[in-house]
Amino acid sequence: MASFFQTHLQPHCEGAAWKDYQLTDPDRNIKEKLCAQHQKSLEIYCRTDDMCISAKCVATEHNGHKIVELETEREEKQISVKNEVQENEKNFTGLIWCIKETRRN
Ligand SMILES: [Zn+2]
Ligand SMILES: [Zn+2]
Repeated sequence: MASFFQTHLQPHCEGAAWKDYQLTDPDRNIKEKLCAQHQKSLEIYCRTDDMCISAKCVATEHNGHKIVELETEREEKQISVKNEVQENEKNFTGLIWCIKETRRN
């Protein structure tokens, strides 16, 4: 059972923790942070470096990188977390069903 908990419940818990983090008003948290180099709000997401950057960074050190609006990146991440949680719940239901069936036999 130990490996079951690691494989199925641990990712589930991590996903839930991530969702909680999202609920703590991400807009305010991010907008309070400024780019250390340009003193501009971190409103762009660089997928190449996996980090939040300012509009000025795009034109300088992140020139040619894969850039998305922070809002777009957040929406996509939320969707993928939601899918992962649903996937876990499906696996969990399936496993409980298997245990019940095994016991019955
Ligand atoms: Zn910057
Ligand atoms: Zn970059």
